[in-house]
Amino acid sequence: MINLATLNKLTYGLYIVTSLDQGRCNGFAADAVFQVSANPPTIGACIKKDNLTHDFVAKTKVFAVSILAETAPAELIRHWGLKSGHQEDKCVNTEYKTGITGCHLITKDSLGAIECQVINAFDAGSHTIFLGEVVSAEMFSEREPLTYTQYRKNIKPDIKQSESKRDIMKKYRCVVCDYIYDPSLGDPDSGIAPGTPFEQIPDTWVCPICQVDKSNFEPVD
Ligand code: FE
Repeated sequence: MINLATLNKLTYGLYIVTSLDQGRCNGFAADAVFQVSANPPTIGACIKKDNLTHDFVAKTKVFAVSILAETAPAELIRHWGLKSGHQEDKCVNTEYKTGITGCHLITKDSLGAIECQVINAFDAGSHTIFLGEVVSAEMFSEREPLTYTQYRKNIKPDIKQSESKRDIMKKYRCVVCDYIYDPSLGDPDSGIAPGTPFEQIPDTWVCPICQVDKSNFEPVD
């Protein structure tokens, strides 16, 4: 028997793992980061293979681990955890300092950061386990670290709620004429009240500009 819920009882912290490639930074929110050896001090980081940071670490062989404080807000974890570096530069508008490896060290809402030089990597199916020798480590604050359990109990529900709100109020674009349906405005001329999600508009509704039906609309990211 494999009851996967049992694996949820393993304990972790929560971290922002960053790397870089040709001067471009990327990073993601990680739980599977751990010390594997004391001499030399060595850190293991498990990174999903389709993650952009995975490609950066595999190529440049450096990564940094910023340790989140228990006061880290949901928005910070949403930013690093739910957005993809394939679609946007996640490192802009973040508070950081540049480490000796060139990686971004997140300074706001983090206790400290550890930089590593990759000394080995292991294929683990969906993820690669990167082993990194510690080349720098510094503390930014004496606050307590955020645990994965605290994240699941206190922060994850907030993130889920804000994500579902975001989905409900998603804008849709007419692929024929580029008209944007904005749920906050509705389409009062056609009897669609402000605050009506696109999904709740009747199928008889048509684009107010070019008159095509709902099937010609796509969500705007
Ligand atoms: Fe249209």
